[in-house]
Amino acid sequence: MKHQFDEVLQFESVAVFAARPNYVAQLQLGAGELDRIIGKYELPGDKALWAVCGLNHCNTQHRYGYVICAKDGQETNIGKDCGAREFDVEFEEVVARFQKAVDAHAKIRSIKSLLNERGEMLARLEKISPQAQIQSERMRQFCGAFQHQRSFWTQLHKCAKLGGVVRAAARQDKDWSTPGSGREQLVTVGRFAGSSVLLDDGTNLHQTLNKTVRPWLQALDETALVSADQADLDGVLREAGMMKRLIDKTEKFVTQASIFLTKENIAQLEPICTHLMRKYDAADARADLEKWVAGELSRPLGKVQGKKK
Ligand SMILES: [Zn+2]
Repeated sequence: MKHQFDEVLQFESVAVFAARPNYVAQLQLGAGELDRIIGKYELPGDKALWAVCGLNHCNTQHRYGYVICAKDGQETNIGKDCGAREFDVEFEEVVARFQKAVDAHAKIRSIKSLLNERGEMLARLEKISPQAQIQSERMRQFCGAFQHQRSFWTQLHKCAKLGGVVRAAARQDKDWSTPGSGREQLVTVGRFAGSSVLLDDGTNLHQTLNKTVRPWLQALDETALVSADQADLDGVLREAGMMKRLIDKTEKFVTQASIFLTKENIAQLEPICTHLMRKYDAADARADLEKWVAGELSRPLGKVQGKKK
């Protein structure tokens, strides 16, 4: 016999299943008269709220149990152990069918939610990918312009690790490198934004989105997912989590890079030269910062920005 489970229910109060149209408080059922389990019930700890068993005059109050349906269509509630007692092995099959339906419903739900999320993720990806390409090119230009200033580059990254805060000894003696008494007080002499973009390279993320994430999302196929076994589906859901994190990461990169790379913000890097570097190196780095702020070190962006006339 083929059973059509169009619903799998979980009841948390007697009132809800007692309101079902075919529900009866008492039912006498013999072997072969049980059709299926409609749902499970799990009631609160207060015994007054437990369900009085409707099966074969059991009349016991049960906290956990099932709502069952007889072959004539009538329904009642039974305790979780009463079915095995009254129906013997027949009940095991009924429970197994019910559990299969519960699992199938859970699987369909997770597939539906994955496919919904796929649309959302693709929309985010299409929006962020071109922006990520632009910001990657700008970051590469910035790195290309300053990476060779080794001392500046090192100090810049130290400040980034402090969240974009430039800290220096309160009193600047003639030679900054003279080891201090150990009591030197550090004060904040500068601050810049978007510092995390220096610590977590995001310049390849747009390629990952285009080469890996988009094709993966587009290849998701409802029919294949429905026929996949649970282990495979779990694997797909885990991968979906990874894809989502890559999109999150790209969005963060774009936000941080666009904050970091404004001229105003780059100008805020100057205290690194003044307070954290030797004078000779500082002069070079400062000159490059000025050129950058004046737009002399960045090339016009390539194909990503080019509007062909
Ligand atoms: Zn019972």
